[in-house]
Amino acid sequence: MQLKTDYLIVGAGIIGLTIARELCDKYPDRSILVIDKEDWIARHASGRNSGVLHAGLYYATDSLRAKFCVAGSKMLRDYSLKNKIPLNQCGKVVVAANDSETTQIKELYQRAIANGVNCSLVDEKELSEIEPTAKTCGYAIYSPDTASFHALAICSELQRELAHAGVKFMFKTAYIENINGNCIKTSQGEIEYMTLINCAGMYADKIATDFGLIEDYVLIPFKGVFLYCNDLIGNYKRHIYPVPDAKIKLLGVHFSPEYDGKIKVGPTAVPCLARENYSWLENWRFNEMREVLATEFKLLWSNKFNFRDLAFAELKKQTKKGLIKYSTNLVKNIKQFEFTDWGTPGIQPRLYNLKKQEIMDDFLIERGLNSVHIINSVSPAYTASFAFAKHVVENYL
Ligand SMILES: Cc1cc2nc3c(=O)[nH]c(=O)nc-3n(C[C@H](O)[C@H](O)[C@H](O)COP(=O)(O)OP(=O)(O)OC[C@H]3O[C@@H](n4cnc5c(N)ncnc54)[C@H](O)[C@@H]3O)c2cc1C
Repeated sequence: MQLKTDYLIVGAGIIGLTIARELCDKYPDRSILVIDKEDWIARHASGRNSGVLHAGLYYATDSLRAKFCVAGSKMLRDYSLKNKIPLNQCGKVVVAANDSETTQIKELYQRAIANGVNCSLVDEKELSEIEPTAKTCGYAIYSPDTASFHALAICSELQRELAHAGVKFMFKTAYIENINGNCIKTSQGEIEYMTLINCAGMYADKIATDFGLIEDYVLIPFKGVFLYCNDLIGNYKRHIYPVPDAKIKLLGVHFSPEYDGKIKVGPTAVPCLARENYSWLENWRFNEMREVLATEFKLLWSNKFNFRDLAFAELKKQTKKGLIKYSTNLVKNIKQFEFTDWGTPGIQPRLYNLKKQEIMDDFLIERGLNSVHIINSVSPAYTASFAFAKHVVENYL
């Protein structure tokens, strides 16, 4: 017998789960089914990220990222506290490595204020009182509201809450193809739906394309690795971030205390060979690799959005020595021997517009036939998720 549901959500990451939660609130009598190709929730970006509850300093003031990061960080904080999920309210500093970065720090501060973020501009002396291990050139930004969340515990609590409210989950169920706009083929058979919501993260572009949308876009995978400090108490009390590189639109390698105080440095952002290629031979799919490599070779050649420079710079950070060397710009006395263990890698998709030849650095939502597609759940989508899901359900469903 064919399965039928009112809402069919593809992807059990933080975006799929928070959208399911909002749908449950808005339409308590309608049926909701969440499918995922993996054996459980949050097996990809939602379970493999830095865990930083961003305050919303960086993003262009009129962007969806700024809007939902600021609102979402408060909602995620409240959700963690209400459900007694560990949250390390440690704060963060953004530091400058040289005079030109000092100018950027001041610009970043103005942007943060325009975004409504609670933060202050501090000098070197004030910085040494706030975070004695950090160093800066002239000025730094202090953001007391940046924190560290427990990514897996939040997703688990959401899943528990949703199952209790009657939402159905099917794991090891991969979306395969769109049959007719009201029915899809999955690895477990056909599923009929009223509305499909594509929250497939790294594969969201593929599913949207199958619905006849976004022909000009492709998601490119960048792998991030973390190196852990073996000092469990940790000298580093707050997040220490560099000034982000405006050309490549990444926040850069940073020091982060996790929700339990463990310290890590990372993530890197090295272009990878396949969309879920976490380690050398993992998840190599020939056609996918061919496609990813074709896009990456073109970018290496053209150096659009500084792709070639980024790739070579990031490759140097793949060794412990390289990563620590890079991090000396952020802190006073880093001892390489304190950072010994690699953590679980994560892969960030970046949405590339093939026509305009540029990286699209804001969330992208597209409406299709009986379907809504979350195509670019770019960082800080975890922080933004609760507010973003509310927006999607209020305006698209
Ligand atoms: C290294 C790294 C560091 C990050 N740091 C932060 C941070 O500090 N703070 C922050 O806010 N954000 C951070 N992010 C970003 C954040 O983690 C992601 O933006 C967010 O988790 C995206 O959630 P998602 O649900 O869209 O995607 P995902 O978590 O990837 O979920 C998508 C789901 O869809 C499923 N799926 C895919 N294809 C199919 C298919 N064909 N059929 C069925 N299911 C399918 C997958 O199995 C997966 O479970 C980071 C990301 C990475 C990788």
